[in-house]
Amino acid sequence: MSAKHTVKRSTSAELFEISKTYFPGGVNSPVRAFKSVEGTPLFLKKGDGCRIWDEDDNEFIDFCCSWGPLILGHNHPAVYSKIVGALQNGASFGAPTRLENELAELILSRNPYIDKIRFTSSGTEAVMSALRLARGFTGKDKIIKFEGCYHGHSDALLVKAGSGLITFGESSSAGVPANVAKDTLVLPLNDIEALKKCISEHKDEIACAVIEPIPANNGLLLQEKTFLLALRELCTENGILLFFDEVISGFRVAFSGAAEYYGIAPDLVTYGKIIGGGLPVGAYGASKEIMACVSPDGPVYQAGTLSGNPVAMAAGIAQLTECSKPGFYEDQEVRTKVFVDTINTHAKAKGYNFELVTIGSIFWLSFDGKKRIHQAEEINPDMTGFKNIHRELLNRGVYLGPSGYEVGFVSQAHTTEILAESAAIFCEAMDVIYALALNVN
Ligand SMILES: *Cc1c(COP(=O)(O)O)cnc(C)c1O
Repeated sequence: MSAKHTVKRSTSAELFEISKTYFPGGVNSPVRAFKSVEGTPLFLKKGDGCRIWDEDDNEFIDFCCSWGPLILGHNHPAVYSKIVGALQNGASFGAPTRLENELAELILSRNPYIDKIRFTSSGTEAVMSALRLARGFTGKDKIIKFEGCYHGHSDALLVKAGSGLITFGESSSAGVPANVAKDTLVLPLNDIEALKKCISEHKDEIACAVIEPIPANNGLLLQEKTFLLALRELCTENGILLFFDEVISGFRVAFSGAAEYYGIAPDLVTYGKIIGGGLPVGAYGASKEIMACVSPDGPVYQAGTLSGNPVAMAAGIAQLTECSKPGFYEDQEVRTKVFVDTINTHAKAKGYNFELVTIGSIFWLSFDGKKRIHQAEEINPDMTGFKNIHRELLNRGVYLGPSGYEVGFVSQAHTTEILAESAAIFCEAMDVIYALALNVN
């Protein structure tokens, strides 16, 4: 087991001083800034398997995995060689390549929910485009979104629940016009009655209901299957497209994502993260009829200079080929379950108000001790526990994404042995932070 030491950060700290002069907050995506944990961001320079190294040569077992994309771990040999092979033929053409067909074939031949797909360069772009498609296909403007789900940073989705009983959303970012936010109806997760009421009030105005079927961007808010089934049924009855945003859950809990995991067919799906093997790829897909609306076949415009980029497609092909092998997801889930159970058994035995919530190879650190919360408002807003465990884990060579609202990921490279070692480190870190808490109180 890695001995406790205080992480040396002098090189990272120097780089951060420089990056702050270049980028807002010193970063190119906000959660990287270590705002909600102690210290400054670690600048990473290398990853291999389940391990990463920072600029001060600290080594960590990585449970962030680039926030989900790296389901095979870092630098997987098959992904590496496929990327290099593609790169030797040129980085980009802006014209069709065989590799796009290959990735599409790999996905569509295994996915009963969609007939056609369109590749984009990020999850945000995929969701934004799919939303336009839902509106173009149905001829309706309003959308339903659920509080606590994240769908990227396009205007229509940077919307949170408004005050009081009204379901009209309020923008959750400056710069989003109220006029855009007003077409997003925001509802609580896992609440069939609220959904029914909203649909009856806006009966013929709703194009789609977008949901993370496994909400994993704001804690891990596992939904009851009865809720997801009711959502499916209410959408069908009311001519509303059911839109599963599977940017995290796609290729993570099963090859065809939460749709396959729960056996619920969405009308529209988006993918991202894992689909690109660590390179920037997103995608949206639907039936032939719906996809016929997309340009150049139909009137819904959507394009991208680097969409279907050959190097990114190659990475996706290599990664999804591994994921499609028999037993891949069962194995991921079994290894993760042993890891999670070891930690939860320890927490329970010691009486800590702590639990790892899990599904597939995703886990989330819940510090309020409640089992299986379903709604954003149930998350304990006090992140002191996370801040403390994040520090103690870093000091023992375990890296978690620097936010208590984010989930952790287990990759194929996290072997049973590494997970056993990591679980022991988690237990030790927990003992330290709960002992601290007792001393403080
Ligand atoms: C990450 C994520 C997005 C945004 O994808 P980016 O590639 O970061 O733009 C959208 N939806 C969900 C569910 C996500 O997890």
